[in-house]
Amino acid sequence: MEIACLDLEGVLIPEIWINFAEKTGIDTLRATTRDIPDYDQLMQQRLRILEEHDLGYNEIQEVIATLSPLEGAVEFINWLKERFQVVILSDTFYEFSQPLMRQLGFPTLLCHRLEIGADGKVLDYKLRQKDPKRQSVKAFHSLQYRVIAAGDSYNDTTMLAEADEGILFMAPENVIEEFPQFPAVFSYEELKKEFVRASNRTLAL
Ligand SMILES: [Mg+2]
Repeated sequence: MEIACLDLEGVLIPEIWINFAEKTGIDTLRATTRDIPDYDQLMQQRLRILEEHDLGYNEIQEVIATLSPLEGAVEFINWLKERFQVVILSDTFYEFSQPLMRQLGFPTLLCHRLEIGADGKVLDYKLRQKDPKRQSVKAFHSLQYRVIAAGDSYNDTTMLAEADEGILFMAPENVIEEFPQFPAVFSYEELKKEFVRASNRTLAL
């Protein structure tokens, strides 16, 4: 039996924080781990900015509901779900991803949580565990599943390494160069072919 593990942002949907910054016009929300490598510091800054602009759970949902999955993502995930048990492994938060997951037909998603107050305010964030993507693949292995994983960035590489087969999808040049052991593809059609190649079963395209 095989499980397909997919990253979310950059693979099925756009980068949420960057698009959220664009939709709200709050430039300081564009910062990512490339600008502030300390994730805790980055998240504290983001929470502070949300508070300053009086953006709570409801406002976040409303803004993010205006975003769409990447072109072809819905068709791709439907294709994949017919052939594998699909699990999305993401470093996003349920509260952020909800509107986009609705458009993707709510595939199983393992990610993190924001702590929301009774008034809808974002109080804090809760990471599920350390190195969660890799730990999830390990857990599936312990359940006797073979794992094929695809992702686009640094935070996916431990998942790709732990999986039986790892695939880079629309990854930036530096990631591709640093991890030449993973095949790198740039379209959903190519990604389908890689899943077929990686699978133990015979899959119809
Ligand atoms: Mg990503």
